[in-house]
Amino acid sequence: MTPQQREHLETRLRQERDRILANLNAFDRRSRISPREGGGDLSAYPFHMADAGTDAIDQEMDFAVAESERRTLADIDEALRLLIEEPERYGRCDDCGREIPFERLDLIPWARSCKDGPHGAVATTP
Ligand SMILES: [Zn+2]
Repeated sequence: MTPQQREHLETRLRQERDRILANLNAFDRRSRISPREGGGDLSAYPFHMADAGTDAIDQEMDFAVAESERRTLADIDEALRLLIEEPERYGRCDDCGREIPFERLDLIPWARSCKDGPHGAVATTP
């Protein structure tokens, strides 16, 4: 990996990190509108299961998306840490120890293996 490629991937990681943080902040604001923090008074909870319609489904999907975003965020933080503190370990496959192809890292800068990972990665070998 050239220093330019490294720098490019670090930029990509920071951009993705900012994007996810913005998403999660928006999500937190949305989900804070309904139940009061700490809960307790359920009668104040404006959401009734009996009326569960598309709003409820949207909300459920939001939670699933937020959950996967949080996982990706943790992967990104770890990748950034490696890139800065242990650059020789960044971009190495957890499975086989080989260097992960740059084209793959460009798509998923936090990739941990050279094969399809848990994030629906794109295969790099034909
Ligand atoms: Zn591998």
